[in-house]
Amino acid sequence: MGFFSNIKDKIAAFTEKAVESISFKKISDGLEKTRKSFVSSLQLLLGAGRKIDDTLLDEIEAILLTADIGVTTTNKIITSLKQRVKQEKFENSDELFEILKEEILKLLIEENPDNENIYDLQVESKPHVILIVGVNGVGKTTSIGKLSYNYKNANKSVVIGAADTFRAAANEQLEIWAERAGVEIIMQPQGADPAAVAFDTVKSAQAKGKDIVIIDTAGRLHTKGNLMQELEKITRVITKLKPSGPDEVFLVLDATTGQNAIIQAQEFKKVAKLTGIILTKLDGTAKGGVVIPIVDELRIPVKFIGVGEKIDDLQVFNSVEFVEALFAK
Ligand code: GDP
Ligand code: GDP
Ligand code: MG
Repeated sequence: MGFFSNIKDKIAAFTEKAVESISFKKISDGLEKTRKSFVSSLQLLLGAGRKIDDTLLDEIEAILLTADIGVTTTNKIITSLKQRVKQEKFENSDELFEILKEEILKLLIEENPDNENIYDLQVESKPHVILIVGVNGVGKTTSIGKLSYNYKNANKSVVIGAADTFRAAANEQLEIWAERAGVEIIMQPQGADPAAVAFDTVKSAQAKGKDIVIIDTAGRLHTKGNLMQELEKITRVITKLKPSGPDEVFLVLDATTGQNAIIQAQEFKKVAKLTGIILTKLDGTAKGGVVIPIVDELRIPVKFIGVGEKIDDLQVFNSVEFVEALFAK
């Protein structure tokens, strides 16, 4: 009971304070498609003054499943919902809307850090080295541009390492983003050793006393062995300059791929020590519910979400803000 009053406090505190913020507006706009399918279906079902019985609970379950929440996490949510229906005397199906919101928020808050002060870094470990991994097309390069921009706005100096030396025009694309963000970039010709680019980037950042290094990589998942070797080599070369190695390995996932994003994460988890997830393209999909099983099943913290193609469209993931935006009426 104590925990729920805490959740309710968090919801209450949030509505008063942060609904006006630009970041909330961006997240809320970005989640529009998901809200229109998933949350509207729930509202339609629960707002109709239905009797609270097994049929209704089955229908809720079906909505959660079609919203890409996945079987495991849906079962978890439905189980606690049933428990609360048994314990607390709800009169109206309408009340279950708030209860579901609370249950989803509880799950996210329990498993995911709130990412407060995410742009504040330990100065002793400068440069803070972030490795960006993920399959082709998920939004790695774009997210690096946005992330650099955000760090720069937080008064951090950034150097980008263009270690996707595999794809043609990868350098040019990243260079454009570096320019937009107003940060430095280290490149080598296409076909160069990605580890060599990583080495050059960290070395340059150390020489110039930069705060952050962000390293782009090529997205080749179909050759798992190569990917593992490549990531190991990049890591090994970084440790020559910074013995503790990369500070973060962020996996970029594309929300439009729904449950497939979870499978990708499980594959990458086997070959890399992932420290966080960047979930992109929430604005382009009704599958935004996939955040919930990502947090619940993968146990890798979601750090940032992409809600558009512009440079200021990468937002810090916060459970309360996310659930509020998702369930906004
Ligand atoms: P990479 O292959 O992983 O480096 O992916 P890119 O960064 O090249 O991005 C692939 C495509 O996804 C580009 O067209 C991006 O504009 C687009 N994209 C990336 N992030 C987002 C996002 O948050 N929202 C939308 N709508 N598009 C995105
Ligand atoms: P290999 O050279 O491909 O066998 O692999 P290494 O693990 O030795 O290093 C990969 C890349 O990182 C090299 O090709 C270099 O470009 C760079 N690198 C590694 N160690 C050093 C170093 O001590 N000095 C310099 N300048 N570059 C290094
Ligand atoms: Mg790329």
